[in-house]
Amino acid sequence: MSLYVILMGVQGAGKGLQAKLIEEHFGIPQVSTGDLFRAMRARTDDLARKVQDIMASGQLVDDDTTNAIVVDRLAQADAQNGVILDGYPRNQVQAAFLEHHLQEKGGRVNAVLLLELDLYVAFKRAFGRVSAADGASYNYYYNADGVDFNWTPAAGSEFPPRLEASLAATGEALKRRPDDASADAIIKRIDTFLETTQPLINYFEVKGIVRKINADQSIDAVWTDIQRALEAL
Ligand code: AMP
Repeated sequence: MSLYVILMGVQGAGKGLQAKLIEEHFGIPQVSTGDLFRAMRARTDDLARKVQDIMASGQLVDDDTTNAIVVDRLAQADAQNGVILDGYPRNQVQAAFLEHHLQEKGGRVNAVLLLELDLYVAFKRAFGRVSAADGASYNYYYNADGVDFNWTPAAGSEFPPRLEASLAATGEALKRRPDDASADAIIKRIDTFLETTQPLINYFEVKGIVRKINADQSIDAVWTDIQRALEAL
């Protein structure tokens, strides 16, 4: 049986991390539209440039472009037993498109996992987040052990200081996603989540497939709740 799971939750709710755990445990790949769009950074064509500009401003990419990139990903060999969708669908147009597309493939959306998180916590999780080359993630507010954090003043007085971080043990400079470094971009993403994703939750709730998970717990506790929800399907 194929398994199509949608992971939903505000930025910083831990969707990416939990998607990786589902991927390993259930053997279906994570499909993150954010990652697919970020991978376009390597390209210099007009579409790739347009997508980068939209992402940097915290806005959403248009539905046709987004749906097309998902159809393409779902057609790949490793996605034939299902996928975990992370960051997609983001609105009802995308949701209806996805349902129709899966129906044509003989599948359906089996579950929508909603990772619930207080929005202030969500802001700090995104704004304070930095990552190492090996994928390890740290946070200025929540997980700063072993990391040297510095607010570096910008040249001139009109820009706010920049958060820089390095591993205390090795000196490795840690990376901050450009869309996490802009408070305004994070706030826009949270606003977009509230405006467009909330109706989507209602849309799926009517179908009885939404499972609510408390995301303000340890990674392990969230994972245990997710496993329980998926195994009950
Ligand atoms: P994410 O990593 O999911 O926060 O996505 C980063 C950015 O990619 C978003 O702010 C949007 O600009 C774009 N993006 C990702 N997924 C979608 C989607 N389903 N629809 C439209 N834009 C998206």
